[in-house]
Amino acid sequence: MTPILYIVIPCYNEQAVLPVTAPLFLEKIKSLAAAGKISEESRVLFVNDGSRDDTWKIIKGLSKEDPHYLGISQSRNRGHQNAVLAGLMEARDRCDITISIDCDGQDDINAMDEMVDAYLDGYDVVYGVRSSRETDSFFKRFTAQSFYKLLSAMGAEVVYNHADYRLMSARVLKEFANFKEVNLYLRGLVPLVGFRSTTVSYSRAERIAGESHYPLKKMLGLAIDGITSLSVKPLQMITGFGIFVAVISFLGCLWALITAICGKAVPGWASMTCIVCFVSGVQLVCLGIIGEYIGKIYLETKERPRYIISERTENWGAKD
Ligand code: UDP
Ligand code: MG
Repeated sequence: MTPILYIVIPCYNEQAVLPVTAPLFLEKIKSLAAAGKISEESRVLFVNDGSRDDTWKIIKGLSKEDPHYLGISQSRNRGHQNAVLAGLMEARDRCDITISIDCDGQDDINAMDEMVDAYLDGYDVVYGVRSSRETDSFFKRFTAQSFYKLLSAMGAEVVYNHADYRLMSARVLKEFANFKEVNLYLRGLVPLVGFRSTTVSYSRAERIAGESHYPLKKMLGLAIDGITSLSVKPLQMITGFGIFVAVISFLGCLWALITAICGKAVPGWASMTCIVCFVSGVQLVCLGIIGEYIGKIYLETKERPRYIISERTENWGAKD
């Protein structure tokens, strides 16, 4: 039996691109179905992430035009990661495979052919990996690469140059549903689920229209989330650094005592000031890092829902 594919697409204020890219996704599904690789039951599933523009209206319109388009709407904007999760979780009981992709046309949809082939060859997870970053600005390229290096230095397992363009089988999603954390960093979590995986490379284009929703502030937020939700290394580093500073301080004290005993003590204003400044700075940074983790624990203990669907397109129906 040919597998049912759901393409999961998060959309936030995408009225400018959606009418352009939606037909491309549909065509892809139809061509894959015509090639006999996937079932006719396959769908394009849009997740409206609380858009303030006409995105949801467009999605509803599309679903009336062609039954292959489905849509769900989050009750408010929850961010890209939660939107993807909502789509995957809603799709998993209705299909055999999902492919998550952004709706702005930056990721080459032709890579889906290879992804589906890999699935048919027995892979459960297929990561889309960017072969080049030429279309990104120097700044984005530099920050992204430093981030991957930082993550792997922190011991988190991530696939280099992979964003959220990936194929996951329903089998993987079933296990993934047991990862209950609310601090979501999908690309770091998926490798933890395991199963046979491979990569497919593609070149990333420029956004077709509209603007990126990932300004520096959000990118930094995602980076911090990525590190703190995957690794406790920063905490261990604090301990290591604390021991180092303590040893140096001990030596400094010895030196100060000996100087005083020898009667050579001079008013040590400069050294005192330096030490106080340095140590208090270090302490604040350490407190900040610890605080970051405590904040995460706080959010996890609340066990709030990770997504809330407020509306579905009329053709959603009950699958069975
Ligand atoms: N997105 C979302 N919720 C948000 C921000 C973004 O669902 O709060 C979606 C957006 O519509 C797009 C994808 O996530 O499909 C990636 O966003 P964007 O293209 O702005 O990020 P970039 O490609 O610049 O990293
Ligand atoms: Mg984009």
